[in-house]
Amino acid sequence: MKKIQMVDLKGQYSKIKDEVDSSVLEVLDSTAYINGPKVHEFQKNLESYLGVKHVIPCANGTDALQIAMMGLGLKPGDEVITADFTFAATVEVIALLQLTPVLVDVDPVNFNIDIDAIKKAITPKTKAIVPVHLFGMCANMEAIMQIAKEHDLFVIEDNAQAIGSTYTYSNGEKAKAGTIGHVASTSFFPSKNLGCYGDGGAIFTNDDDLAHTIKGIVNHGMYERYHHDVVGVNSRLDSIQAAILNIKLKRLDTYNKARQNAARAYNKAFKEQANIITPTGQDVCNGICDNCDCHVFHQYTLRIINSDRDALVKHLNDKGIPCGVYYPIPLHRQKAYLDERYNEADFKVTNQLVKEVISLPMHTELDDEQIEFITSTVINFINS
Ligand SMILES: *Cc1c(COP(=O)(O)O)cnc(C)c1O
Repeated sequence: MKKIQMVDLKGQYSKIKDEVDSSVLEVLDSTAYINGPKVHEFQKNLESYLGVKHVIPCANGTDALQIAMMGLGLKPGDEVITADFTFAATVEVIALLQLTPVLVDVDPVNFNIDIDAIKKAITPKTKAIVPVHLFGMCANMEAIMQIAKEHDLFVIEDNAQAIGSTYTYSNGEKAKAGTIGHVASTSFFPSKNLGCYGDGGAIFTNDDDLAHTIKGIVNHGMYERYHHDVVGVNSRLDSIQAAILNIKLKRLDTYNKARQNAARAYNKAFKEQANIITPTGQDVCNGICDNCDCHVFHQYTLRIINSDRDALVKHLNDKGIPCGVYYPIPLHRQKAYLDERYNEADFKVTNQLVKEVISLPMHTELDDEQIEFITSTVINFINS
């Protein structure tokens, strides 16, 4: 059996090596390292893949979030509601811009921001909601956009984990994750579903004025050469990364299908296990029906109930199976983000999830033998 890895970047690269290498060499030879034609090409390719009017490439997913918030003109003291159960980047940029983060609980089924918790957290100071499409599954965007409309709020989608996933509205219409809110951010960190070989990120929007504002912000607030109209940042996707992303974007749907196939095999193996809750997608299809892309499985995350999650982690590691706990500590209990207004009773789900979740190896190169070994090792431990 091939050695099991959490993410197999080498296996994936070996299949596209010739194409990637020659495209990277082309950039080296062209010397167009910054804002070269490959970056423009990737921007256009991603716009057409997503069906969004504007993609603005930038240096990483954290910058993308920050720049999106700067572009919306949010002001110090404005309250921004986001999920307690996510990667820290989301809350970090809110705090960094001196906006006030308001963390709220998540839904126990899809792990995404809880709709009732958003409603409860809205005050006259609330200006924006940041849903995170956690682990590759779209948040309930229809309900979130409805709340935003009623309260005149911006919606910033943190799409770092769900690129390529498709959200289906209750009337059957579909839209790609990251094209539904006023603006969205994504990350091309190597292990993300669309990863480059270094750092990278992008902002998406359908709003022409906002796109114009953001294009200036990423370039030192400059709209005309050496005229600095607003305070900006320096945040660029470099041409070498864009060259790699052009090649991987063509395969994104195939890559996401491979992840969904692995998830389907995992779910099937765990189906009869009373102490394991498998991930579920957009209520109707569980995320893994044959013709649905609502979940692109950035992570495959189980809830382990009535059993010792931490002992399972140790057991799997002893057997040579890497795994992860995303995320072990809720953001509202992180030192940097403590706030006396928070009440533990309002974070029941997150407080429970951090004790139960475990993410199994998930990537495009998993084979049946590996999945069989992983699932039987988990099941044997749980029932021992
Ligand atoms: C990875 C990630 C980010 C940050 O992306 P970087 O490119 O590492 O800055 C932000 N939000 C979420 C949910 C992520 O998973």
